[in-house]
Amino acid sequence: INYQLAKFVASYGKVSQIPESTCPEVSFVGRSNVGKSSIMNKLFGRKNLVKVSSTPGKTSNINFFEADDVHFVDLPGYGFARRSKAERDRWAELIGDFFDSERSFNLVVSLVDIRHDPSKLDHDMIDYLQGNEFNFIVCLTKADKLSRTQQARQAAAIKKQLNVPAENVIITSSQTGTGIDELKKRIAEACL
Ligand code: GDP
Repeated sequence: INYQLAKFVASYGKVSQIPESTCPEVSFVGRSNVGKSSIMNKLFGRKNLVKVSSTPGKTSNINFFEADDVHFVDLPGYGFARRSKAERDRWAELIGDFFDSERSFNLVVSLVDIRHDPSKLDHDMIDYLQGNEFNFIVCLTKADKLSRTQQARQAAAIKKQLNVPAENVIITSSQTGTGIDELKKRIAEACL
């Protein structure tokens, strides 16, 4: 996949507005501020294609990007503390409708901050993906904030807590590029 060809496709506020899948799709989910925009920008080798959220927690739309005939789907982040019930309901409806819809779900990349134990919402999201047999990986983000030893310890703890197979978890950092090649490899395996 030639990531340098990445471009923005469209933004949707409702799942019913999204056209049928015409190519493989890779979706990104995670709590707000987990580093989702940063990792997508890192993948694309671009500074600001996916807007690094200036207003954390603002419920956004579902944004589609495309590179070399693969779609990359930026799903709105969850778990922002000051979000209203209406916004949380909108998030749940969007995400529920999205994963319920008839699409090519080649790979779901679920992002979890390596420094923290997974939240209730992380558990819910990953249990849902696992329970419904989505092809998914858990990307542990911001690894540069921990030492190698701490990274290994946290990765093991998170795998255990989430009860996901070891090969489904990768350690990443958008800052240093750790794990980005591995992520690209998983995407290629799922899409090509
Ligand atoms: P999003 O809300 O999930 O899209 O998260 P962002 O990509 O906007 O990142 C949230 C914050 O975490 C920003 O201040 C980023 O600079 C920071 N951040 C994201 N990824 C990394 C990383 O790999 N390492 C470090 N140290 N900071 C990161």
